[in-house]
Parts: sequence; structure tokens; C-alpha cells
Amino acid sequence: MNKQFDVLVVGAGYAGGVAARALAEQGKRVLVLERRDHIGGNAYDRPDEAGVLIHQYGPHIFHTNDKKVFDWLSRFTQWRDYQHRVIANIPDDKGGRMTYPVPFNLTSLETAFGPEEGKRLGDKLIAAYGAEKKVTILELRQNPDPEISSLADYVYEHVFVHYTMKQWGQKPEEIDPNTTARVPVFLSRDDRYFQDAYQGMPLEGYTPMFERMLDHPNITVELSCDALKRLKLEDGQIWLDGEVFEGAVIYTGQADELFGFSFGPLPYRTLDFDFETLSQDDFQGYGTVNYTVDEPYTRITEFKHLTGQDIPGVTTIVREYSKAYSGAPGETPYYAIINPDNNARYDQYRQQAGKFGSLYLLGRLAEYKYYNMDAIAARALELADSLNEERKTNG
Ligand code: FAD
Ligand code: UDP
Repeated sequence: MNKQFDVLVVGAGYAGGVAARALAEQGKRVLVLERRDHIGGNAYDRPDEAGVLIHQYGPHIFHTNDKKVFDWLSRFTQWRDYQHRVIANIPDDKGGRMTYPVPFNLTSLETAFGPEEGKRLGDKLIAAYGAEKKVTILELRQNPDPEISSLADYVYEHVFVHYTMKQWGQKPEEIDPNTTARVPVFLSRDDRYFQDAYQGMPLEGYTPMFERMLDHPNITVELSCDALKRLKLEDGQIWLDGEVFEGAVIYTGQADELFGFSFGPLPYRTLDFDFETLSQDDFQGYGTVNYTVDEPYTRITEFKHLTGQDIPGVTTIVREYSKAYSGAPGETPYYAIINPDNNARYDQYRQQAGKFGSLYLLGRLAEYKYYNMDAIAARALELADSLNEERKTNG
């Protein structure tokens, strides 16, 4: 059985799916083991009971500046041109609600402070940082000018601090600065969430894209299969089904779980998704609305706006609630909590993995990183290339 395959891939998400296909095209015979009963990892989508195409593990919008990745994925899907726009929904001081674009931009400024004052403050920010510049909230808060600093406090209070507390249980200044830097203050009228050159949604969905990616004569996929029940790391060797596995093993699950949590569990945040199907055409007019000040959930996504699905009289939304991952059965670790202590713990697992020459940790879980889909696809392609080079070098 073990001799049938050159490579074992654990996990059929972006990391595993892209690596499996790239390796299969090099002529390698690849076995993919996936614990869930479906492919696609967290990007998995499916029609719900009402026929609305939903993202089971939260909203996924594809965006990249990496033409190579975009072209590679485009072999398996056409794209729906979709530019994601997000609205913050916050209480105003008259007992009503106010909405403006996130990332906080020149339009948000004018909505929050009125057209004249907003324009004046916008001009001041542009004079300080430059037009079309992106400034992180932590940078903006360090500006010594009292007017800019009080504006920074406003944005911190109305956009960042409560949302970040809900998402991470910590304040913006306590979490990895790269996280809030994903959503900077944008000195522009461009109200899109992302400015990448290539943005869109797979025309028929992510799952059909993954089906085509994994449909290759050199790829065998086994679903509902926990690789850790079949895999053993012992005596410096990797064992599959009781026999030494000589090929490369690309592991995209949790690094701590792979080594029996021997250095302690790695902390994560998990999410509860509350899906609701409503008998109406449109619920909120936008793909995603962020509740940046109140409400226990972080955001509401209405899938029809993302997918462009034409299905009158019905719509499905999802509310996201974030909490600490406890490792309880059924919980999914979605976000690594990146900080020096956790990174040091992760490093112990990485070093342990390094003792097995042909074991490669790849992906959001296995590398304990905050990868977007395009970034992990790029990493998977690089790894496949490097394995090909190794083979050539070794003759
Ligand atoms: P995963 O998708 O987690 O895949 C890993 C797979 O390995 C899983 O299917 C898992 O079941 C399987 N596995 C684990 N252990 C085992 C085992 N022992 N045996 C067998 N199988 C196993 N990125 C974007 O670019 N745009 C977005 O809009 C976006 N939105 C997101 C929204 C949310 C709520 C979340 C959580 C993430 C979002 N992302 C987004 C990030 C995106 O989900 C990741 O970049 C991508 O899923 C990473 O792929 P992966 O293969 O590393 O991990
Ligand atoms: N964030 C925020 N308010 C917002 C949007 C984002 O405070 O309205 C912060 C929050 O800390 C969040 C981070 O910026 O975790 C990154 O946001 P992003 O939308 O990229 O998160 P993801 O989609 O990956 O969950």
C-alpha cells in the first residue's frame, strides 16, 4: 500500500489541494487524507437547505496581487468579478445607527464629522501622510498633533477597540500589529476592502474549483479520514499504516496535535457561525457589515452579495461570534494567536518536525500563521517546486 504513493498530503484545503495537484503534475502519485467529509478546507462552500450558496466556515473573498497564483487557480475556475465592500454599523449619538465604509476612509470621515469638518480633517491627514496612503491605527495614534491624535482616538474607539476585543479578547495594542494593519485607515475615496489587482469569487464556488484541482489520475483522496490515526512519527521515521513511508509528507493540520501536544497546546481563536435564512430578497445590501461598537457578534455576511446568486425571495446570512479555542470536540481552530510566547512554543514543534527530513509543515494551522488563501497557495506551489528540484538534484 505504502509503495503505491510517492507523497502523502494531510488535509484537502488550499495548502493540501494546491500542493497535491502541483506534485501530481510532476508525475508523483499523491495520497490526500482529509478528516472532514469534504474537500476545500475552510474555503468549502455548498448550497444550504434553501438553495443559497453559503460558505460553511465564514465568508471567503479571493484577492491577490500574485499573478502566478491567480493564473494557476484560474485553470480550475472562472471568476465572478466581485469587489468586496464592508460597512461599519455603529450607534450614533441620537439613539439611531450610523454606517460608513471600513477601512475607515475619507468618506467615513465626512460621514462621522459632517462634510465640512470631515473634509478639513481629511486634508490635514493627507498633508501629514499623503493622498491614497494607508496608515495603521497604531501609527495614527502615535501622531503628536492633538487634532490628529483625537481623530485617531475616535477611529480607535468606533472601529477598532470593541471589534478587536470581540475577535481576540484583547485590545489592538495587545495583539500582533500586523493584524490590525490588515485594515488600515485609508486616505482615499476608494471604499473597497481590498485594493489587490485580482479580486473575485470562483464563478461556481470554491468547492467545484477544488473538485477540478483534485481531479487528476495521480491523486487519490480519502475523506472522513483522520491521518493521525494512520500516521506515526517514531525512530526518526514516518510510518503510515504500520509501514515506513519513504516519500514526502505534507502536513497541513495543527502542529501541536501532530506531536501529541508534547510542548503544550498552541492557543487559537475559534468562531461560532450562526446561519439564518430569511424570506426576503435582500437583508443588508452589502456582503459584510461589521458591528464595530456593539452587538456580541463581529460581523454579518449576506452570501448572495458575494456570490451574485440570483435566487429571489430568500437570502442567507451568517453572524460570527469569536471565542477562545478550547480543543473541545467539534471546535475548529481558525486563527493562530500570534505573539512571542506562542511563536516560541510553535518553534519547538517546528524543530521537532525538522528531525524528520521528509516532513513538511504547510498551511495556516501547520505553520501557525495568518495566511490568506493566495499566500498559502503561493507557499504550496513553492514547496512543490522545491520538492521537484530536490528530486532532480538527487538524480
Ligand atoms: P485549512 O483550510 O484549515 O485546511 C486544512 C485541512 O486539513 C482541513 O480541511 C482539516 O480538516 C484538515 N486536517 C487537519 N488535521 C487533519 C488530520 N489529522 N487528518 C486529516 N485531515 C486533517 N482568506 C482569504 O484570502 N480571503 C478571505 O476572505 C478569508 N476569509 C476567511 C474567513 C474566516 C472566518 C477564516 C477562518 C479564514 C479566512 N481566510 C480568508 C483564510 C483562509 O481560510 C485560509 O487562508 C485557508 O483556508 C488556509 O488553507 P489551509 O489549507 O492552510 O488550511
Ligand atoms: N478590525 C477591526 N475593526 C474592523 C475590521 C477589522 O478592529 O471593522 C481589526 C480586528 O482586530 C481584526 C483585524 O482588524 O481581527 C483584521 O481584520 P480582517 O477583516 O482582515 O479579519 P479576518 O477577515 O481575517 O477575520
